[in-house]
Amino acid sequence: MFSRVLIANRGEIALRIIRACHELGIEAVVVYSQADKDFEYVRQADQAICIGPAAPGESYLNIPRIISAAEISDSDAIHPGYGFLAENAHFAEICGECGIAFIGPSPESMRMLGDKVQARELAKKARVPCVPGSEGALGSVEEAINLANKIGYPIILKAAAGGGGRGMRVAHSDISLKGAFAAAQAEAENAFKNGTLYLEKYIEQPRHVEVQILADRAGNALHFYERDCTVQRRHQKLIEECPCPVLDDETRENLCKSALRLVQEANYHSACTVEFLLDRNKNFYFIEVNTRIQVEHTITEMITGQDLVKRQIQIAAGRPLELRQKDIQIHGAAMECRINAEDPSRGFAPCPGPIATFIPPGGPGIRIDTHVYQGAKVSPYYDSMVAKLIVHQRNRDEAINTMKRALREFRIEPILTTIPIHLKVLSHNLFARGDIDTGFIEKNLS
Ligand code: ADP
Repeated sequence: MFSRVLIANRGEIALRIIRACHELGIEAVVVYSQADKDFEYVRQADQAICIGPAAPGESYLNIPRIISAAEISDSDAIHPGYGFLAENAHFAEICGECGIAFIGPSPESMRMLGDKVQARELAKKARVPCVPGSEGALGSVEEAINLANKIGYPIILKAAAGGGGRGMRVAHSDISLKGAFAAAQAEAENAFKNGTLYLEKYIEQPRHVEVQILADRAGNALHFYERDCTVQRRHQKLIEECPCPVLDDETRENLCKSALRLVQEANYHSACTVEFLLDRNKNFYFIEVNTRIQVEHTITEMITGQDLVKRQIQIAAGRPLELRQKDIQIHGAAMECRINAEDPSRGFAPCPGPIATFIPPGGPGIRIDTHVYQGAKVSPYYDSMVAKLIVHQRNRDEAINTMKRALREFRIEPILTTIPIHLKVLSHNLFARGDIDTGFIEKNLS
């Protein structure tokens, strides 16, 4: 096992990883930017190293500084968390070259699955249903138009290197496809320095359902069932829940087994999530693999009773999973609300600033993963998520009631947060019935 792990991240996930390390008897080293120096979690780490100013390029995305910090602190491994360098294969490679274990997959499988075009090809090989679309990268706008006419509008253009909803455009006709192609290409070029696009049939009114996987280096791969992340705004998740309220046992089994086949085809080890869209007729289609621990891993931990971050660290250290598929069972229902410092009345613009009052909810069924506290300052430089409010109850109805009660208790002032919109979603009868799709917020709450 490792004796010291460096955490190349910040905020709640840095704290989450510190906790996992400490429970495993491992020392945790955090790197931090000047903007994060006052956060409590920096003090909870066994060692903290300032690696630069707030701008991510000069701190959390700066590979030489992070590697130097790992060498100075004599860390045996680096945990990248999510975001920043978590899905950067070049970074994973450099860790390997420096003799530091990367807590994640091999650079090869990260590259293969991180490229959405290659991942689609792999999915087809593993007999996993994909959304109808291009075989590979699109060579030109003419090729896109031809293909769109073959599979039928509407279609969605996506960036091969995509993430965070960038480089995605929906088109309903040849004319709109022309404009969308140029816009998506420019956006992808700008965001990922890679303008490669591909095209898919646009699935109407889908749900987003994803499968959590852990695979060890000995080739044992297990699924931890699914999460439903249908409540999104602008293709970004806002509320996640598990199990998915509309899956029957047979579809669930097929979905989880499909995800496992894909991961095994890629010879993958570590944690990952295989994402699917589910249509109204219970057909599911692969969309992408995330080769990292995700924000919403928490709800899977609640219903399975398994600590995914600890297991991810153990796998990186070469430990086999020591679990069988039948050991992983669903207990009750869990839900997570992402509490972001945002102003919903101004199009969810980030709303940074000092937190004068921070009184989190408590009581049965509540888990809160957060790095903030009374007196902390939400920084304008990073993601606006300030807390993850997680509930675990015997069933979905109780989880909704507990979540509503907890959201009403939660006091974060004076910054504005997504708490009011969560309450609106949870009180909506369509959500209560589980009768929603990814356009729910735009259609019903904007
Ligand atoms: P990103 O990596 O940028 O987050 P994803 O491929 O994961 O992009 O898609 C994000 C969201 O976009 C999905 O959850 C879904 O809401 C929507 N989406 C993606 N592909 C399609 C599709 N073919 N049809 C309909 N909606 C889609």
